[in-house]
Amino acid sequence: MYRALMENRCPGFSAFPADSVWRKIVPSKICFFIWTVAHNSILTQDKLKKRGWSLANRCDLCYTNEETNAHMLVDCIFTKQVWSIIRRSCRQSVFPSGNDLDVILKNWPTDIPDSMEGWFVYCAFHAVCWCIWLERNNRIFNGISRNPDQIVRKVLKNVAGWGVANGKIDRLGAATWVRERIRQIQ
Ligand SMILES: [Zn+2]
Repeated sequence: MYRALMENRCPGFSAFPADSVWRKIVPSKICFFIWTVAHNSILTQDKLKKRGWSLANRCDLCYTNEETNAHMLVDCIFTKQVWSIIRRSCRQSVFPSGNDLDVILKNWPTDIPDSMEGWFVYCAFHAVCWCIWLERNNRIFNGISRNPDQIVRKVLKNVAGWGVANGKIDRLGAATWVRERIRQIQ
């Protein structure tokens, strides 16, 4: 299944730049989540309504707008705050431009750089989308809410963990890297 998806051989779905979705150092389940994002297929409330569910459709991150893929992952003020903190913590212009998920994903850097900072940029979109999705689910299903600062910490720890798993950085270096990024946002 994964191989078919990675090679864009899934019937019913248009081709999507594989390098944008299937990032070698990001866990497969997260790449698969991004694949569903790229095909506008995650089950946000707008889609549940279309399937006949009776619900008000209100974004559980900002409690203001309707929840769609694009709103939750790009337009939501909560998500924008997360990106803003990440930009501050890494002193880089890591920020999606525009509000078209396809364009953002297709334009995200696909070269794997040597530095940890560059490597973070390479993984950032996947990591943020994944942590936003988990936050949304935690709020709906577990009644647990975290603020944007806490989400950024999760993003940083996730990426550092992928760095360790892929031999990019050792555990001590990863812990130091996370600590330094967090110090930038305090
Ligand atoms: Zn929202």
